[in-house]
Amino acid sequence: MHKVISGPYNNKKKSHISFSVEKTLGKLAKWLRILGFDTIDGQDFSDSRPMNTEEECRIRLTRTTRVRDRDTSGRLIFIKSDHPFDQLTEVIQALQINTEDTEPFSICIRCNTPINPVDKDFVRNMVSDYTWETHDTFQFCNQCRRVYWPGSHTKRSQEEIKRLFALASNGNRS
Ligand SMILES: [Zn+2]
Repeated sequence: MHKVISGPYNNKKKSHISFSVEKTLGKLAKWLRILGFDTIDGQDFSDSRPMNTEEECRIRLTRTTRVRDRDTSGRLIFIKSDHPFDQLTEVIQALQINTEDTEPFSICIRCNTPINPVDKDFVRNMVSDYTWETHDTFQFCNQCRRVYWPGSHTKRSQEEIKRLFALASNGNRS
């Protein structure tokens, strides 16, 4: 049984939840971004450096028992699985996140910046001729200048997301 984090998360739309993820959980971080959650990765929670206010608002995800045992914030989820997809399921279940709480493909997977729609002409020289000719809607990350379009990663990811929430709503599997 997963421990459900109580507090301000239940009964509220959860799309505002943000995460801070340990460096061993890079793939999990990527998945959280795919779902639209503001997620910083590459963190090391074992140091005793004080957190700033922005960091304190984030839910920390760790696989380090030492970090778990020391935590007093109540904002930490200890991840048990080795597999990114199962790890994501653990987070979804712990926070009771539903499909409606997510906003898939709204954040740059690479750099965690919100992406925005851009004119087709804007990306003319940024994507292959084939991609440009076969798509009409594009999104762009102002930070790292990555271009996204339907199909750039979405079909498989969408199927994975469906699978995720189907599993999560079935409760626990072990
Ligand atoms: Zn980016």
